[in-house]
Amino acid sequence: MKDAKLALLGGKPAVPDGAIRKWPPIDSSDENRVLASLRGENHAYGPNCQAFEKEFAAWNGNRFAITTNSGTAALHMGVAACGCGAGDEVIVPAYSWSSSATCVLHHNALPVFVDIDYDTMNIDPGKIEAAISERTKAIIAVHLHGLPADMEPILASARKYGLKVIEDCCQAHGAEYKGTRAGRFGECGAFSFNQNKCLCSGEGGMFVTDDEEILNRARMVWSFGETRTPAEDRDYHAYALGWMYRNNDLTAAFGRAQLAKLDAYLETAACNAKVLMAGLRDIPGLQPPIVPEGHKTNWYNFTCHVDGTAYGYQGPPARFRNAVMKALQAEGVPVGIWQEFILPEMTVFQAQNAYGHGSPWNYGRELSYEPSLFPMARKHCDTHFGMTVPLRAPNDESVAKLVSTGFQKVFERIGDLDIDAHGA
Ligand SMILES: *Cc1c(COP(=O)(O)O)cnc(C)c1O
Repeated sequence: MKDAKLALLGGKPAVPDGAIRKWPPIDSSDENRVLASLRGENHAYGPNCQAFEKEFAAWNGNRFAITTNSGTAALHMGVAACGCGAGDEVIVPAYSWSSSATCVLHHNALPVFVDIDYDTMNIDPGKIEAAISERTKAIIAVHLHGLPADMEPILASARKYGLKVIEDCCQAHGAEYKGTRAGRFGECGAFSFNQNKCLCSGEGGMFVTDDEEILNRARMVWSFGETRTPAEDRDYHAYALGWMYRNNDLTAAFGRAQLAKLDAYLETAACNAKVLMAGLRDIPGLQPPIVPEGHKTNWYNFTCHVDGTAYGYQGPPARFRNAVMKALQAEGVPVGIWQEFILPEMTVFQAQNAYGHGSPWNYGRELSYEPSLFPMARKHCDTHFGMTVPLRAPNDESVAKLVSTGFQKVFERIGDLDIDAHGA
C-alpha cells in the first residue's frame, strides 16, 4: 500500500469501478407490490396509502401517520399544525437542508437560526434559549445525517418556554435517542422517502404524530382544507387553507415493499459502518462521525471532518478538504459535499422577501441572518465531506473494507498532493 501511487496522480484506484452497488436494492417483492397496485382500481389515495400509514406508524411506534408526497410537505404540515402563523418565529439549525427552514416560510412564519455543534453537526442546544423571543412558537429539531439531535435539553427549553417541537426526521429513519425512535419526541415528525433516503419510494414522505388534534390540523393542510380523507365520506368543503400534499398508491406500494426490508437495510449499514470506523481510527487529520453516548445513528450520511494543520497545512481549510476529497474520489471513494451553504447564507433568507412586498418578514420583528453569527456551521461547510451509498445495502463489509483502504491510502500520501493546486 505504501508504494501504491495515488489514483489522482495516475495510480490504480483503491476501489475498482463497479464495486459499489447502487441504492436502493429492488427485488420481486417491490415488483409484485407495485404491479398489484397498478392492476388495482384506486391509484390516488388507495389501499396501499392507507396500509403504508398503518405499517409505518406501527414500525416507528407512533399513533398516527399520514402519507405525503414529500418530506417537505410533512414539515409544512407540522409547522401549520403546531399553530405557527404570520410573523411567528420558529427555531431552526443554521445547517440543514433548505426546506427545514423554508417550510416555516410556507406558513408565513420566520425562521430564527441557531448555530450547530461542530462535532455532532446538529443544533447546539446551549444556544437555543438566546434565540427565543416572545414570538417564538416552535423548534424544528433536525436529526442530521441520521444522528438524533440532543433531545433532552431541546425538550427542556421547549417546555420552559411553552414551545412546540417539530422533528425533521427526513434523514433519521430508525435513529434512536436514549432508546426512543426519532419522530416520537416532539408534537410531530416528518420523514422523507426521496431516492437518497434510508427508505426510498422515489419521492414521498410521512407525517407522524401521537396527538389527535395535531393530526386533524395537519390533515387539513394535506388535502384541500378538508377534514376527511379521500377514503372517507367527503363533503368537499375547505375548512381551512389546504394544499394538495397527498401521495399516490403506486408510490405507497413501493414504499411498503421497502419498509418490509428497512430493518435489514439499517442492520447492513450499521455493520458496514463498524468496519469503516475501525479502518479510519487513528488517521491524523481525519475525524470520522462522532456518535455521542445514548445516540443511535442510522448512518444515513457518513460525514467526516478534516484538519490540514495535522499535516502542517496552514492555508484555507476548504482547500485542504477539496484536495483530499478529489484524491478520495479518484480512488473510487464517492465522497462529496452534501451542503455547501449554511442556511442563513441562502438567497431566499438573505433577500427577506418570499411572497413579495417583504412578506413574511414584514409581519415580524427584525431578524439578522448575518453568516458570521453561525461560526460552527460555517466551519463545518469548509471542512467536511460525506458519503451515503457505500454503506448501504446491497453493499457489504467487503465494500466497507475497500473504502477504508482508499481512505488509508490517501491519508498516508497527503505529502504527495499539491494542496493549493489540487484543492483550488
Ligand atoms: C431530504 C430532506 C428534507 C426534504 O425531504 P423531501 O422529501 O425531499 O421534501 C428535509 N429535511 C432534511 C434534513 C432532508 O434531508
